[in-house]
Amino acid sequence: MSEGAVKKEEKPRKFQAIRGTRDLLPPETALWNHVEQTAHAVFGTFGFGEIRSPIFEWTELFARSIGSNTDVVSKEMYVLGLQHDNPTGLDLAHRRETLMFMSVPSSDKSGIDIFTMQTRKFCSDYDAALGKELVYADVGTKVALKYLKDSISYLVDDLLEQTRAGDWQERFDRTVALCKQYLDLVEPTIALRPESTASVCRAYIEHGMQQLPQPVKLYYMGPMFRRERPQKGRYRQFYQIGAEVLGGGDAPAIDAEVIEMVMTFFDRLELQGVQLDINSIGDGNCRPKYVELLRAELLKVKDKLGPDSQRRIETNPLRVLDSKVKEEQSIIEKLPRIADHLCEECAAHYAAVKHQLEMRGVIYRENWRLVRGLDYYMRTTFEITAQGLGSQNAVCGGGRYDGLVELLGGPPTKGIGFAIGEDRLILSLQESGKAPAQQGRDVYIAWMGERAHATAIRAAKDLRKAGFSVELPPVEQKFGKALGQADKLGAKYALILGDNEVSEGLWTLKTLADGTQKKLSEPELIKELRKTR
Ligand code: AMP
Repeated sequence: MSEGAVKKEEKPRKFQAIRGTRDLLPPETALWNHVEQTAHAVFGTFGFGEIRSPIFEWTELFARSIGSNTDVVSKEMYVLGLQHDNPTGLDLAHRRETLMFMSVPSSDKSGIDIFTMQTRKFCSDYDAALGKELVYADVGTKVALKYLKDSISYLVDDLLEQTRAGDWQERFDRTVALCKQYLDLVEPTIALRPESTASVCRAYIEHGMQQLPQPVKLYYMGPMFRRERPQKGRYRQFYQIGAEVLGGGDAPAIDAEVIEMVMTFFDRLELQGVQLDINSIGDGNCRPKYVELLRAELLKVKDKLGPDSQRRIETNPLRVLDSKVKEEQSIIEKLPRIADHLCEECAAHYAAVKHQLEMRGVIYRENWRLVRGLDYYMRTTFEITAQGLGSQNAVCGGGRYDGLVELLGGPPTKGIGFAIGEDRLILSLQESGKAPAQQGRDVYIAWMGERAHATAIRAAKDLRKAGFSVELPPVEQKFGKALGQADKLGAKYALILGDNEVSEGLWTLKTLADGTQKKLSEPELIKELRKTR
């Protein structure tokens, strides 16, 4: 059999969108646009400006901010370069981590040998992996790698050869510290963003926004990526609309205004069944004591809890409060509540936020079980649920994160923000029939004949300029077929342009809903159409 024959028999692969991702198509995209336009409009009235940050960032940005032991970072992130299924990359990442945290006292000869040998081996393996394109590295990483090699050579070839006199000890410690700093910079992975708060804080620091009038109020919208188990309302590429207020203090009115803004946005969209839950989760002062108390109480009832909650007693006891497991509910209800354990400042802040919400007419429900899994969150937390979403009914999550900018190397900066799940927002709007109807074409131009074609092109141009949606068929059609096509496209009118119409200078406008026709001159046409808009 010839090669050609084999090729013929091979069926071309039919591609499908990757699991957890989907195409958004018309007419649904009209609703997405409506939602996004409304966000631009409403957020603008609250003085927020839009930020568009990159879709990928250094992995470390997310690891530092969200926490490397959270599910979002450890299991769900799409990491490029050192992929989860790239053994070379993973191995290098683990070895780098081990070296960074290795203690290297100058008195420990064998410890020094292990550190220097392993760092050298790390560098050469890293180079080899780069050569084979098994890992990704930018210029900064490559420079850091070079400096790392130089520092290790200095340590091994010069320092360790010297008699340990003078400021030897100091130079030794400094060189080891430098090696670790360079190892830290050999940060080779980039990740698709699982959320945007970290990116906004990074941008705030990078562009010196603390010099601007505070607070800086930013909003964003766009796709986020998490390798979660896909289901209704849960996707691997999903969209968030969010906002952050950075700097300028932590006045309770800031918290309340941010919440008021989301509620105004939902109100404008006529989102149904909106329920706002709020809570305060304290701060670094009072929360650790509460968490310990909670852990102690949970340990007493450990046997009665499911495996997830049992694990969380150790890793993150607050998250047990999130549990939806039916059998655990009566146990959780009896646990100590954070509201009773807030320090004076946090309690006063929480009371003031509630008062501010009342002043703004924002209706809320206090929910002591509402927590955020991440360490940097503090004080105000909130969540908004909406109708028609089943178990994935949270459309918005938000809270205060005063320590985050500092954690990312910036100046101490107060912060609060939220993220709305746009996919879920759209689902809820569709379920409650609040989606605006898709607009069909205004005018379908049924033309016949060469002269009519020229007139039709001019008419289409003028009508479009006047803001009407016009369908101009590319080839001549019989009138019957053209009218059928106009009907299928949901056009309101058919503009009939045949030789007669063109020579008379009177065009026929047919209203498709009732079949009535009118003869109109060219200038009358736009006037007539405007009347019925
Ligand atoms: P988070 O960033 O986890 O606080 O999520 C904020 C909001 O984003 C949630 O309330 C959801 O509405 C939405 N969201 C989070 N993860 C997903 C996902 N995998 N698919 C769709 N929406 C999501």
